[in-house]
Amino acid sequence: NKSGRFGPLIGAVDEGTTSCRFLVFAAKTAEILTFHKVSIPFNKPQKGWVEQDPNIILQSVIQTINVGCDNLLKLDINPADVVALGLTNQRETTIVWDPFTGKPLYNAIVWCDMRTTETVDEILLKGKRNKNFLKEACGLPVGTYFSAVKLRWLIDNVPVVKQAIVENRCLFGTVDTWLIWNLTGGVKGGLHLTDVTNASRTMLMNLKTLAWDEQLCKIFKIPMHILPEIRSCSEIYGYLTESFLKGVPISGCIGDQQAALVGHMCFQKEQIKCTYGLGSFLLCNTGNAIINSEHGLLSTVAYQLGKSKQPVFALEGSVAVAGAAMKWLIDDLNIVDSVSDLATIAKNVNCKGELYFVPAFGGLYSPHWNKEAKSIICGLTDESKPGHIIKALLEAVAFQIRDILEALKLDYNIQLSKLLVDGGMAANDFFMQIQSDICGVTIVRPSVNEITCLGAAIVAGIAEGIEVWDLNYMSSVPNDVFYPCISENERDVKYNRWKLAIEKSLDWNR
Ligand code: ADP
Repeated sequence: NKSGRFGPLIGAVDEGTTSCRFLVFAAKTAEILTFHKVSIPFNKPQKGWVEQDPNIILQSVIQTINVGCDNLLKLDINPADVVALGLTNQRETTIVWDPFTGKPLYNAIVWCDMRTTETVDEILLKGKRNKNFLKEACGLPVGTYFSAVKLRWLIDNVPVVKQAIVENRCLFGTVDTWLIWNLTGGVKGGLHLTDVTNASRTMLMNLKTLAWDEQLCKIFKIPMHILPEIRSCSEIYGYLTESFLKGVPISGCIGDQQAALVGHMCFQKEQIKCTYGLGSFLLCNTGNAIINSEHGLLSTVAYQLGKSKQPVFALEGSVAVAGAAMKWLIDDLNIVDSVSDLATIAKNVNCKGELYFVPAFGGLYSPHWNKEAKSIICGLTDESKPGHIIKALLEAVAFQIRDILEALKLDYNIQLSKLLVDGGMAANDFFMQIQSDICGVTIVRPSVNEITCLGAAIVAGIAEGIEVWDLNYMSSVPNDVFYPCISENERDVKYNRWKLAIEKSLDWNR
């Protein structure tokens, strides 16, 4: 048994939208000892609907943990050296279940699901309210994205959910809550809890008190008894009753975008990270202050590293379609075979067919928050090639991040020196260069791409009673760096054209 060489180990689960990963880190060095990933399917039963089976989500987590532990054994490392588990997850996704049978009452409604458009309209139009009318309390505009409207929809449209609430046999949770309940005993006494970061995405938690807000629950007509207990991101919540890691404490729980902020070690005010997954999410640490955005950003909890620790907040910009656009090019438009061909095709196009493509597949998120916005391609000519479309979509992701950085400058007056990046699309050097050029900022990409899992491992490893992780070790992690290499003038011309395209996308239904 070689485990002594690595010291205490920390397991981290990242339950994302399209996949679930399990990693084991050596707490002393942050070295990754094993990695296992499984894909998670989703169904689109109707236009704009996105659902997942909560039991598949749960089984994927258990399976990745078990395979990961098996891999450790093959490496002659003892899984018993795993001293804690951290969990990070796709946020806002909404699950309701019966605690007596353990069965979900409906499929998980995934964050990007758009079925709640009418629910949102009803809340806003009926009371002649502005979409920002709850921002002061919860930091978020009323939108289809957040859990409260999804839960409202479930209560209004699924009779078994309504009935279960009346009969006191319904629990609500985001994915973290569902997993922790099941992994700590399920029907035999599973713990019903969430952490401040996940709770801050529901629209039901008050950012100032970090507690469920009666007024907010009233507006969405959500019965408070179905809500989980809110805890910090870093404390021993309970012990695993399932999987190879039975008996190991769960001591970290944090939403995936916040986990990436922690994984990048953005513990100082004004530090910024951007993660490019299916969607793309930029978070800026704002310290202990809640900054109320007037330019379309969200105020959210970044982390709270222990029960008695002060919460730290963030401003967030969310882009709904990033990697999803790449997936669309490959799976639906079929103009490219795989992500590894994107750059090769996009690089070899002339500038004559230059396009601007706003991929508003489900409306636009930050900073516009406009669900009526339509996708639009500007500049098509008979010289436009598939490569132009690919390039325009890569640029569209980069432009949307610039839109967010512009909003951030207005809201928070930051001097941006560098942008830390991670996620699937960040592996693409060509895209990273585009991002640097379009924003005029230095991009820093750590060599470890599993930043989200690292964040989950960190919060689990520093928890009171675990305390095996040293936050100072990371300073020497090697990075790739991308510097802007187009002129200021070229950057402005391009960005102004993008803004025109956005205007057209927003104007379509006006
Ligand atoms: P998530 O955690 O959101 O499921 P990942 O961080 O694994 O996603 O990122 C996957 C996304 O990144 C996919 O949508 C994929 O299309 C995109 N992607 C992966 N590799 C590349 C690449 N080399 N170039 C561009 N996009 C990529």
